[in-house]
Amino acid sequence: MHFENSLTFAQNLDAQDALGKYREAFHFPKVNGKQTIYFTGNSLGLQPKNSQGFVDAIMEDWRNLAVEGHFYAEKPWWDYHERLIPSLAKVVGGKPEEVSVMNTLTVNLHMLMVSFYRPTKQRYKILCEEKAFPSDQYMLKSQLKVHGLDPDEALIEVKKPEGKHHWETSDFINAIEQAGDELALVLIGGVNYYNGQVLDMQRITEAGQRVGAKVGWDLAHAAGNVVLNLHDWNVDFAAWCSYKYMNSGPGNASGIFVHERHLNQPDIPRFEGWWGTKKETRFLMAPEFDPTPTADAWQLSNPPVLALAPYLAALELFEEVGMEALIQKRDVITAYLEFILTEIDAQTPGNFEIITPKDRGCQLSVLLHGQGRPLFDYLMKAGVIVDWREPNVIRLAPAPFYCSYEDMFRFGQILKAGILETYGK
Ligand SMILES: *Cc1c(COP(=O)(O)O)cnc(C)c1O
Repeated sequence: MHFENSLTFAQNLDAQDALGKYREAFHFPKVNGKQTIYFTGNSLGLQPKNSQGFVDAIMEDWRNLAVEGHFYAEKPWWDYHERLIPSLAKVVGGKPEEVSVMNTLTVNLHMLMVSFYRPTKQRYKILCEEKAFPSDQYMLKSQLKVHGLDPDEALIEVKKPEGKHHWETSDFINAIEQAGDELALVLIGGVNYYNGQVLDMQRITEAGQRVGAKVGWDLAHAAGNVVLNLHDWNVDFAAWCSYKYMNSGPGNASGIFVHERHLNQPDIPRFEGWWGTKKETRFLMAPEFDPTPTADAWQLSNPPVLALAPYLAALELFEEVGMEALIQKRDVITAYLEFILTEIDAQTPGNFEIITPKDRGCQLSVLLHGQGRPLFDYLMKAGVIVDWREPNVIRLAPAPFYCSYEDMFRFGQILKAGILETYGK
């Protein structure tokens, strides 16, 4: 596609953008009274304007109905989470019965490992990517320790090729084949949080299952960002948070996927609670756990309805727009951002490089050469909200729901001024 680094060109793209009107559906933070250029939808999505009404409705029902709200609120609380499932199942490519909402991401990965990481003397190793998101590293190592295993021996961390900033699919497949029948579990971030790389989840899932391992995915940076077909890819399980690309609000509830072949299995090991029992008989308060035949069987507690309200509001927007349209715009706006970065690099050469490979969603990670922190500070002061990852990477995510092409052009101008001020060339 042909691009130009000009305001009129960017504004023309905005004028033709079918999703352009959704910018108005979100609240943007301001810096010095001016709307920011928001690149951190991969960390915390903006607040959809419709979400306040959803939260207010719960507060009002609680005020007016108190306990009766569980059954008589306009959207009753006891099965409130079910309202999220149809849209959410579409976002991740699962059947509705394979998807549920509960807890938070790290909690859910632990809970799912209870079911799907069952080490034996022969088969006990876990494979993940090197420098996985810290919470995932802590989770995997602590699970190994709970089972009396030594993480130094039992955790395989797949390295990037020497001198490279990204993996090849073969790096994972080779490591999986090498671990062979010692491998119990593959659990990787589907979209890497640091370099923005989208892994070939289908092929890696196949490779893991071929050697007899279970395969799960942490989809924190994937849900609402990339095409997911968890059911068709035959993924064993997955979990994701909702506050990044899905705009549900800070620390909000996580989603899980459990493939249908694992549903309704009476002897699957699992930590259980009353919200995992069949709805029809739950309030009989029977002593025996009678699991729902869906991923809801992994639910423990009655759902945090106040948290689910803005999540439901955010999902209404996903339902309206659809992943296909989002991904179409994502590809163009990310390519336009890449073009702008290349232009600025040509004008002020040698200060940075993009380390995100072509297999990407909505994120470009930029490695700053030399001392980058002053440039990051400059951008933030100028109203460009980006994030910093040690030692010297800035992550830029032009979330297609609310970022404009004009944002990308303006960012380029600010970046150039910032480079001239902080690097001096
Ligand atoms: C954001 C993120 C998390 C966050 O975990 P929480 O339990 O929601 O705090 C976990 N894993 C990855 C890969 C992430 O990007």
